[in-house]
Amino acid sequence: MTTSRSSLALRGAALCAVVAALVAVPLSAPPFWITLLNYIGLYSIVALGLVLLTGVAGQTSFGQAAFVGIGAYVTAYLSTHVETLSWLPWLNLVVGLALTALIALALGFITLRMRGHYLPLATIAWGISLYYLFGNLEFLGGHTGMTGIPALSVAGFELRNERYFCYLIWVIALSALWMAHNLLDSRPGRAIRALRGGLDMAEAFGVNTGRLKIVVFVYAALLACVSGWLYAHLQRFVNPTPFGLNQGIEYLFMAVVGGAGSVWGAVVGAALVTLLKTQLQDWLPSLLGRSGNFEVIVFGILIILLLQRTRDGVWPWLARLVPSRAPPLLRSAAKPFLARAGPPPGPLLVVEAARKEFGGLVAVNDLSFEIRSGEILGLIGPNGAGKSTMFNLIGGALPMTRGAIAFDGKRIAGQDPYVIAGLGVARTFQHVRLLPEMSVLDNVAFGAYLRGSAGFVRAALRLDRREEARAMHEAALQIGRVGLAAHLHAPAGSLPLGQQRLVEIARALAADPRLLLLDEPAAGLRYAEKQELTALLRTLKREGMTILLVEHDMDFVMGLTDRLVVMDFGEKLAEGLPVEIQENPLVREAYLGGVVEEKA
Ligand code: ADP
Ligand code: MG
Repeated sequence: MTTSRSSLALRGAALCAVVAALVAVPLSAPPFWITLLNYIGLYSIVALGLVLLTGVAGQTSFGQAAFVGIGAYVTAYLSTHVETLSWLPWLNLVVGLALTALIALALGFITLRMRGHYLPLATIAWGISLYYLFGNLEFLGGHTGMTGIPALSVAGFELRNERYFCYLIWVIALSALWMAHNLLDSRPGRAIRALRGGLDMAEAFGVNTGRLKIVVFVYAALLACVSGWLYAHLQRFVNPTPFGLNQGIEYLFMAVVGGAGSVWGAVVGAALVTLLKTQLQDWLPSLLGRSGNFEVIVFGILIILLLQRTRDGVWPWLARLVPSRAPPLLRSAAKPFLARAGPPPGPLLVVEAARKEFGGLVAVNDLSFEIRSGEILGLIGPNGAGKSTMFNLIGGALPMTRGAIAFDGKRIAGQDPYVIAGLGVARTFQHVRLLPEMSVLDNVAFGAYLRGSAGFVRAALRLDRREEARAMHEAALQIGRVGLAAHLHAPAGSLPLGQQRLVEIARALAADPRLLLLDEPAAGLRYAEKQELTALLRTLKREGMTILLVEHDMDFVMGLTDRLVVMDFGEKLAEGLPVEIQENPLVREAYLGGVVEEKA
């Protein structure tokens, strides 16, 4: 407690010092530095969008400069051509944001479905075409651009002086940073962090990832637009040059060099790139004795060297010098989420003639079975029998070739995983899908995604703390249940595999599911851990949970399940009580025999 308090005080003091310096600098610094500071602020805003989009969400964009251009050109045009708007640059910002949102929505809709390198290529194409559009439209002044853009006024005070403009830029930049920081530490933030490398998992817990990618793309574009709007009123002049592909690449550089995974990386990157470029422009000609664009070459080399030494950019390296923040406090008084009503009597899930073909391979061959409310159904069979495939058909992770699946009377075959999750189906993954750098607590809180409702705006403005406390409370509760209370704040990836499986179960439980789907939960667990898992599953059953348990380990299944369905080569080999299955000669031959002999 004392350490966290003193570190909190230290951080507070550091923050005050930074704020005091920022307030003092623009009043006293020489004009050259004011200009630099302004540019760093403007660039930071754009780079921040890229931190979210590229660093956190994993979507590379070279086209941000074009969005900056939209913000700049909209206000340039409106404030010089539309009489009534000339005195309202702030209204132009709203128009610019609306136009940017529309364009980003349309673009995002088309490009974000592309995977791999198609998305970056598409953003390059878009960056180039918008640049030429700016340059070729007569009414936008062509390549010469537009002049006579009025200065901005804040509360009747005209910001004609760069010194005063500096305050506006940095108030906006720091607000954007604060909001991005809040956003990442929230329900939608966890979902955004899952977009890079955790798509299946996020979908399985109710995140419409396609939609979320577009939202992040639009958010980053809006930040770029704000920067462009500021730029136009700072320069009071625009032409297409600063909105071309070159600048788009440079924005990406800034985010990557600074540390694309953290919001401060945006500022560090913007500062580093800007300072380096100006310094090189000064030094190189005198060093080499002649002028030319040498700085571009040297700059490129420096960037490569830097990225070789530190993949994650400069920020993580700087962050070590700053005292780290104490882990979030868990408020035990937080009101828990409401639990769902108990299960209806009768079958909860009905699978009818489900079929899945992979090319010529029939992985699931017209399989039918049902899961009754409140039972633990075991789905067993030798390796490659088609258990995981069947499991993925239920969760919607794989599309079915043929057949029908109904959950609580509703057809779910063909639905997206996030829709099925919304009905109350939660799952674990045979190959563990945690977000390894995120804490155990955050990973498990992900499970409660659908029990909260905080969106971007609420999260960014930190109006989601009540709900967030409930999510954390729920997560801590489930982590305690699987016996990992000692590892709450550890990065999930640092735990041994067996414990990671338990984290997966806790995450599924945090969703308060009506049907819990477990794919080989005992694989990789030690004997004692298996026994604890057995006890946990028994408790869950006692509480009325319905569970589908896909398993390999026969001993584990026999003592735990109410009924068993045995699969072999995609077909149902047998179905019945565990004792019946144990006696079944077909099953013994296909599966049990081998295992029993092995064990004997
Ligand atoms: P189990 O979980 O029972 O071990 P799986 O459902 O993983 O079995 O696999 C069943 C069969 O389907 C195996 O032959 C496997 O190779 C094949 N299979 C599984 N997933 C795919 C896929 N995505 N593409 C092609 N074949 C697959
Ligand atoms: Mg499997």
